[in-house]
Formats: sequence, C-alpha cells, structure tokens
Amino acid sequence: MSYDTINRVAVLGAGNMGHGIAEVTAMAGYDVVLRDIEPEYVEDGYESIAWSLEKLEEKDRLDEPADAILERIETTTDLEEAVADADLVIEAAPENLELKHDIFADLERYADEDALLATNTSSLPITDIAEAVDTPERVLGLHFFNPPVKMDLVEVIYGAETSDDAAEAGYDWVESIDKTPIYVRKDVRGFVVNTIVGPFIGEACWMVSEGDAEVRQADAAMAHGRGYPMGPFELADLTGIDVGYHVRKEAGDDIPSIMAEKVEAEELGKKTGKGFYDYEDGDGPDYEPGQGEGFDTLQVEARMINRAAYLVGEDVATPEAVDIGVRLGLGFPEGICRRADKIGLDTVLEKLEAKSEETGDDRFEPHPYLRELVAEGKTGEDAGSGFHDYGSGDAGDLDSYRYLNAEVEDGVLEVELDRPERMNALSTDLLEEIDDLFSTVDTDDIRCATIEGTGDRAFSAGADITGFGSLEPTDAMNVTPAFETVNEFPRPVIAKVDGYCLGAGLELALACDLRIATKRSSFGAPEIGLGLIPGGGGTQRLMRVLGETRAKELVFRGNHIDAERAADWGLANRAVDRDEFDETVEAFVDDLRNGPPLGLEVAKKVMNRGEDASLEAALAMESQGFGLLIGTDDVREGTAAFAEDREPEFEGR
Ligand code: NAD
Repeated sequence: MSYDTINRVAVLGAGNMGHGIAEVTAMAGYDVVLRDIEPEYVEDGYESIAWSLEKLEEKDRLDEPADAILERIETTTDLEEAVADADLVIEAAPENLELKHDIFADLERYADEDALLATNTSSLPITDIAEAVDTPERVLGLHFFNPPVKMDLVEVIYGAETSDDAAEAGYDWVESIDKTPIYVRKDVRGFVVNTIVGPFIGEACWMVSEGDAEVRQADAAMAHGRGYPMGPFELADLTGIDVGYHVRKEAGDDIPSIMAEKVEAEELGKKTGKGFYDYEDGDGPDYEPGQGEGFDTLQVEARMINRAAYLVGEDVATPEAVDIGVRLGLGFPEGICRRADKIGLDTVLEKLEAKSEETGDDRFEPHPYLRELVAEGKTGEDAGSGFHDYGSGDAGDLDSYRYLNAEVEDGVLEVELDRPERMNALSTDLLEEIDDLFSTVDTDDIRCATIEGTGDRAFSAGADITGFGSLEPTDAMNVTPAFETVNEFPRPVIAKVDGYCLGAGLELALACDLRIATKRSSFGAPEIGLGLIPGGGGTQRLMRVLGETRAKELVFRGNHIDAERAADWGLANRAVDRDEFDETVEAFVDDLRNGPPLGLEVAKKVMNRGEDASLEAALAMESQGFGLLIGTDDVREGTAAFAEDREPEFEGR
C-alpha cells in the first residue's frame, strides 16, 4: 500500500501533546481536525494553539499570519467526523492500553482503509496497540516530544507488523512538517531516547543510594563537568520521580532506594514542590560547578553507552539515529555513540566489566555488541572506527561533517551550522569542523561562501558554555583557529543572520566579510555577564568594525542590539524583513558569484591585512595587489566587456 498523499490529518486528544501536534501540523500547511471527548477539552486545546501561535507571531517566527494557520484547524468531538477524510490519524489520548484499543478499533471502522494510523504513546508497545485493528501493517508510532512546537525530534517506531511503506510514509511526513525523524526499527521498551535516559537518572540514583555519591555532586559533575543540559536529579525532579519509578517497576527492574523513598514520601519533584531539591522552601536545583569533584561520571556514561550498544547491536537504531535522538530529544551536547567513541570503547568495556565483577549486578553486563566492537579493534575515534567510522577524513568530503551541513551549489559554498537543539551554539567539535571545512575545501569551484544557522531561532546563540566551569585556564586559552580560518578563506564569506547572533556566534559572523540580517535578529557579546570577555576575536574585530565607542558599549554592557541598530552601526550590511531576506542575500551572492575570483581574493587579503598595517605599508600592499591583477585574463575580460557593453565572464585566471 502506498500512502503518498497526506493532505488531511486527524489528531485524537487535544491535551498537552495533541494540541501541540495539531499546531505543528497546521503550521506546515496541512488541514487538521482536532478531536477530544468533551467540547471544553477541544476548546481548551484550540485556545492553547491560538495562544502559542500568537506568541510565535510576536517573535516573528511564523511564515504566515497566525490566523491563516488557525483556519486550517477544525475541532470536533465526533470521532467519525474527525477521521472520515483523514489520510493520517495521530492518536494522543491518555496512556492507557484499553482506551487506545477502543480508539484503534473505532479507527478500523471509521477511517479510510488507506489511512495511516499513528500513536504518540511514550511507553506502550506499538504492537499491542495495533492488536485492535485488522490491518496492523499501517499502524506505527510517531513519538513527539514535549512540547512539540519546540522539540524537533520525532521517533518513528515500527510495531511488529508495521510495513516499510507505512514507516517510510510516517518518516517522510515528519520531515514535511520540518521535524527530524529517526527510525526505531523494533518495538522496544523506551524506544531510543528513553532507553538511553534510563541509566542517566537510574545509575546516578544507584550511586547515591549505595553511598558512593551525593545528589549535588552527581548533578554538578554531569552538568558542569560533562556538559549535559542538567544533572540527573534535576532532570528526575523535572520529569517526575514517579515516572521513572513506574517505568522500572513495570519492566521488573530493581529500584534504587533513594527513588523508592521519594515516591513513598510523595516527594515526586517539581510538580509536588519537593523532590531531590526543594522548590517551595528552597531554590530548586542549587548545585554549583565546584561540587562535582570525585563523582565517577564514567560509571553513568558507560551504562548509557551499553544501552546504545544494545540498540545498535539489536538493529533497533543506527548510531546516527541514536545520536540524533539524544541530541534533539534530551539536549545532550553530543551523541552518546560519538561520546563513547571519544572516551574509547575499550575504556567503557573495562568499566562495565570491573563493576560487573565487583557487584555481580546484571545492569553492568556488557552487551555483546560492545564486546564485539572492542574485539575487532573498533575502539573509537583514535582507532579510526567505533560506533562510527572516522578513518578516511577525506579532505573535500562535504558529507563527512556531523554538526555542519555543507554543499557547493552553483559556485557557492553553502554552510549550515546544524545544532538547532542548542541554537547552533559553537561547541569545540563544531568549531573544529568549521576550521576543517574552510581550510580543506577545494576552492576551485567556489566563488563565495555563506554561513547560516539551522532551526528557526538563531544564527548561533554563542559558545557551548556547558563544561566551561571545569576547564583549565591553559585549555581555555587555546582559542580555536576556526574564526581566523573563515576570515582568511580566499573567497568572500557572507553570514546570513536570522535570529540570535550572540557571543561566539557574533564572533563567527564578524569573521565573515559581510553580514545580512533579518530585522528580528539580535546581536550581542554577553560574555561579560559570565565574568568573561569574548575569546574568539570579538573584542578586536568589534573595535575594527564598529570603532571603540560602540564596540565598548557592546562588550562592557553585554546587551543585545537589534538588527536595525546593527545595520545602523555598520555591524550588519543590511537588516531586512524576513520575506525579503533570501532575495537580499541572493543579490549579494549573485554579485560575488559573477565577480572576478582573483580580484575578490586580492581585495579581501589587502583589506584584511592592510587594516592592521601602517597606511604606508597598506598602500604598498594594495599597489602590489593591483600590479598582480593587471596582467590577468580576468582584467582583460573585465575591460573588454566594459568596452563592449556586456557582462564579463570571469574565469579566475
Ligand atoms: P493529556 O492528558 O494532556 O491529554 C490527553 C487528552 O486525550 C485529554 O484531553 C483527554 O480528554 C483526551 N482523550 C481521552 N480519551 C479520548 C478519546 N477517546 N479520543 C480522543 N481524545 C481523548 O495527555 P498527553 O500528555 O497529551 O499524552 C497523550 C499521549 O502522548 C500519551 O499516550 C502519552 O504517553 C504521550 N506522550 C506524552 C508526552 C508528555 O510529555 N506529556 C510526551 C510524549 C508522548
């Protein structure tokens, strides 16, 4: 069966998830019917969508008026009416198998026989839900994360009977609503993301329960030392300690005493005002960077990596899918497979074996796939291969980057910073990739380059400061060469700024030659608020671009300025409305693409270098450049075209 044409989508359940799913679906241009059991529930859901769209509109994050999107959403309490013409049905009703069975049995009756049937369940097996229908091949999981408007990830889950056609149609549809799908090819408990997060919280709980660690120590070490967006206990408080408790209980797993005690005391986390931290009488998570010392972070990471080995080894998901899953679903600073490859799989295996021997506990039993990789010498990045392959490092292989998308299109090197889950914050890995790309890419076919951010919020919101607290000063002073590499790239580079351009993001934009911004963008050097100064050339380039008065205002005050002021100050070449952005960039690109490559290269070099030389030396550089160009074919072509009143065609010779 083919499910090519999805036009109309029915969402069943207008609660937390359902209304968000309906919203992102309508935002992508689909007609949506939102169904709940009582008129007031659908109305609440609809109101929440209207409120959220209004907020997005205020922030200039919609491509069309909020009203136009709302008009695509119908509401009803009538199931038959909701699903009659739907090509895709997404069930987002409460997490109860019996209820879901009833709903799917109704779907079999009322939905079109070609409709794709999806469930947003987070913990029930897709296979069990599909038992209610005679056509389980068209039932799949589409697991959105909360809140769907913000979270980019959707797990596309196979039940035992799901057909490839159905899963592929679900996957393509997720892409069509601008979300990132990952395949979960087997119906395993927790799918991908919750399989990995289990030991993040669980192992930390065991360590505290067994007296090997303190709550704040664990959180400080994992968040500040290892760069996770929050500590395990802080996360447990946020999601509800009872949630993890019940998942473990249902799986028949042992439960760490500290978790059981909290559940018994009904201290379930933020929602009850108290959990591992106190939210009513205290300040909530109040751990400090220095408190993490002595915590064995490897014990927690080894267990997550062991779970990743299970997912990959049992063909549930590829290492790429696991990595995307934890980055987008959990905000991990890098994929867990990638992190494993960095730590060294042999080190991870040794840790698990040692703990397994010491405790005899099954939870440390290394998965056979991990043993297999180590036995084959695939111990990670240093060995050239682990979960991922590193090896070839082919210069010029534009597909080899993990945090960058790069392609050469019609003479333009188009680069995207691809960490939308962290507003494209510049991590060490991302900066290394920028450096590698701009220093190795073959410039023969490139006339200019553009850099932009992915996601809809930022060019780049700064450096990835998680982990800063534990850096040694000498490490931190090893500032990346990436900014210089971009600045010295022999072709003009344009920063396409739409959204936040802050801190290290601003420094990257400053390393570019030209900056074109949408009016909603904002620029700033907020480092001073952290007690720091810009460390990637910001202080110096701002002085050169803006002059002392304005540069010092930005650096000393740490405030943001909007794009129009940035253009006014000469920080951005243009500040335009979003609907004029592509056109404006294209006009710049067009001039650069058709300009003389050698002339532009020499102009860039002479202007960059001359800036820091005495006028006399700079003028000498300029004359030299001028002389160098005079004998080139391009100049002959330029002057001939001028005389003949036609457009020149420069070859770069
Ligand atoms: P919710 O309680 O906020 O919303 C569920 C809605 O479904 C309610 O408005 C309820 O009235 C309605 N409902 C009940 N019976 C119905 C029926 N027969 N037909 C249509 N609607 C019906 O729950 P939620 O948090 O939105 O969760 C919904 C599903 O999404 C669950 O399966 C849950 O596991 C899953 N999920 C939740 C999250 C999360 O963080 N909340 C994340 C991912 C997945």
